[in-house]
Amino acid sequence: MGDWTEVADGVHHKRYNPLDVSIVVIEGEFGVLAVDTRSSPREADELIADISARFDKPIRWVVNTHAHYDHTFGNQRFGPFGLDVDVYGHRNIRRHFAQFEAPRLAAARRDPSREPGGQDWSEVTLTPPTHEVAERTTLNIGDRKVDLIPLRPGHTDTDLVLLVRDANTWVLGDIIEESGPPMYGSGSFPLGWPGVLEQLLEQMRPGDRMIPGHGQVVDRSFVVRQTAQLKLVADGIRDAHARGLSPDEALWERDDWPFPVDGVFWAFDRGLRQLDAPTEAR
Ligand SMILES: [Zn+2]
Repeated sequence: MGDWTEVADGVHHKRYNPLDVSIVVIEGEFGVLAVDTRSSPREADELIADISARFDKPIRWVVNTHAHYDHTFGNQRFGPFGLDVDVYGHRNIRRHFAQFEAPRLAAARRDPSREPGGQDWSEVTLTPPTHEVAERTTLNIGDRKVDLIPLRPGHTDTDLVLLVRDANTWVLGDIIEESGPPMYGSGSFPLGWPGVLEQLLEQMRPGDRMIPGHGQVVDRSFVVRQTAQLKLVADGIRDAHARGLSPDEALWERDDWPFPVDGVFWAFDRGLRQLDAPTEAR
C-alpha cells in the first residue's frame, strides 16, 4: 500500500499489506539496510524487487525487529540460501522460533484452516538471524551508524529496536503499534512491556521520529500515551492476581480498557500465568 516515504534523510518507510506491516530501508554509502522481511518467501521476493527498483544500491544488511512471522518468514530469501547478506536479530529469536513459530507452522501445514488469514507458508523455511544480538551494538553501514538495541521481554522476548543516530529516527517493531492496538500475541510479556518502553523513553527526545511495526510514523508523545495504556493493563493484571480474580472476572469489572477486550483478555491470561509461575510461562 502506498509508496516509500522518506521519513528522515536516507530513512525510508513503506507499509505493506497484508497486515500493514512496516518495512524500513536505511541508506548507507554503498548499500542499504532493510528492516524486517514480511510473511513468506513470496512476499520477500516482492520486497526485494521493490527495493531494487527504488534504490540503486544493493541490500547489504537485514535486521529483524522480533520473531513474529510477519517480520521474519521472508528471512530465507536474505540469509545464506538467498542473497546471503548479514541478518541481525535478538539472540532469543532461535529459541522463540522453536517454541512458538515452528509448532504454529507445523500445525498450519497439517490443517491450513487453522490460519484464517490464508497464510502462504508452504515454502517457508524458518531462518534465524545469522548474527545474534545480545547487547547494544553499533552497525556501521558505510558512512553512518545504526544502533541495534535488544530489549528485555515485552511484546515478545525477541524485541530489538534500531536507532539511526544521524537521523534521530527509531525503528520500534511491535513494541508500539499505530494502525491497530498493541498485540499481546505468542510469547508476550504484558507485565514487563511498559517498563521496557519507560526505559527507552528516557533516551527518546522530543522531535525524534518513531516508526512502529504497523502504521504511520509517530512521535515521542504517542509513545508516552501508549506506554501509559500498556501500564494500565499491567496494573490491572497485578490487581486481579492480588484479589484472586480470573481474566473474565477482572475484565468485566470495567468497560474503559484502552484496547479491545479480546486482546486484553490474552494479556490477562498470560500475565496471570506469569505471576503464578514466573519461570514456567515463558
Ligand atoms: Zn509482533
